[in-house]
Amino acid sequence: MPISTDLPSDPQLDAILRRELNRQRRKLEMIASENFVSEAVLSVGASVFTNKYAEGYPDRRYYGGCEHADEIELLTQQRARKLFAAEHVNVQPHCGSSANMAAFFALLKPGDGVLGMSLAHGGHLTHGASVSFSGRLFRSSSYGVREDTELIDYDQVLELAEKNKPKLIIAGASSYPRVIDFAKFRQAADRVGACLMVDMAHFAGLVAAGLYPSPVPHADVVTTTTHKTLRGPRGGLVLCRRGLAKAIDEQVFPGLQGGPLVHVIAAKAAALGEALEPEFIDYQRQILKNTARLAVRLTDAGYRLVSGGTDTHLLLIDLRTVGLTGQAAQTALDKAGITANKNAVPFDREHFSVTSGLRLGAAALTTRGLKESDMDEVSDFIVEALRHVGDDARLRKIGLRVEEFVKRFPLYPGLDA
Ligand SMILES: *Cc1c(COP(=O)(O)O)cnc(C)c1O
Repeated sequence: MPISTDLPSDPQLDAILRRELNRQRRKLEMIASENFVSEAVLSVGASVFTNKYAEGYPDRRYYGGCEHADEIELLTQQRARKLFAAEHVNVQPHCGSSANMAAFFALLKPGDGVLGMSLAHGGHLTHGASVSFSGRLFRSSSYGVREDTELIDYDQVLELAEKNKPKLIIAGASSYPRVIDFAKFRQAADRVGACLMVDMAHFAGLVAAGLYPSPVPHADVVTTTTHKTLRGPRGGLVLCRRGLAKAIDEQVFPGLQGGPLVHVIAAKAAALGEALEPEFIDYQRQILKNTARLAVRLTDAGYRLVSGGTDTHLLLIDLRTVGLTGQAAQTALDKAGITANKNAVPFDREHFSVTSGLRLGAAALTTRGLKESDMDEVSDFIVEALRHVGDDARLRKIGLRVEEFVKRFPLYPGLDA
């Protein structure tokens, strides 16, 4: 199926698409939640299924002409169940947040208690933050990491569970570089009769490859995005036990969504198909090697990493020891052609719009084909940029070298920009 950015009939839009493709090609993409989908996923996501209304579920639709939408959705479900060894899956959520919302609505009533990881310690907005539906509609409390180890404080999880008696405990995070002990969360949930939801949005690809413990045997519900390490289109999935299937499905549709994005579901099928191939394990293994190498190089260069390192596709630099803020670091890296994001470190005193940390991920660069030795060069670029914050001329020069460097790793060579 052809993919193209060529839109001669709409020069305004054509120019923007080309600029974005060039931006993605010329920069080092290190935002831990981003990735580059395959050309197959890209083209399926732009397919004629965008034209189809298919409210409902396979064989139970509210529209005619859904026979092929049914085939697509059943195939996607089958692949997701196989990949994660799950009893049931809903493949319709438009994003990770709506997957979480469906899980909350299936398991809870407004006003019920939830216990999730603090946003300030690496949790996600939808795990109970006051600005999110999860904190507005539910009585939320949050656990964090220990100050000494910067690992999840499992004693605190248990204490808060016993004190607040939540109906739902949530494990999973957006900027936690270590493996989460799901069995400990299960114990805490069982102790107080709560359900356990695991949000594996970030590390789903590692789980699929067997390189991160699967939460599926421990959790009542597992939610994920499909566009982070899983390397699919933007979207979400909910996995659950058979007994919760009906409740989850009803909350996704008609609970909070109308027609599913059948073209995106098709792209999910394409990505899940790739994730079921043996090469996907090699890819995920390479992500871990690349991140580990980056961690060693940054540590050798004098940077302190939160928790002292990483077990995953991401790491978090604590910039307090070098007198920088996350905001200053993000801006400097951007000028040097490296895209990353500022991020609070645990016990951060800076405002969340400034922060003291920088989150870096290796999933997207690994997709481009970078190996450990290439990460040495990436690390050198990062260190040089962080040592020259405010020196725009120097940062621009680094940016030019970055642009030369990334040419060795072609992105979407079939597309012309
Ligand atoms: C990214 C993320 C999400 C939300 O994903 P969206 O698709 O942006 O809604 C949910 N949970 C966690 C832990 C995440 O990291």
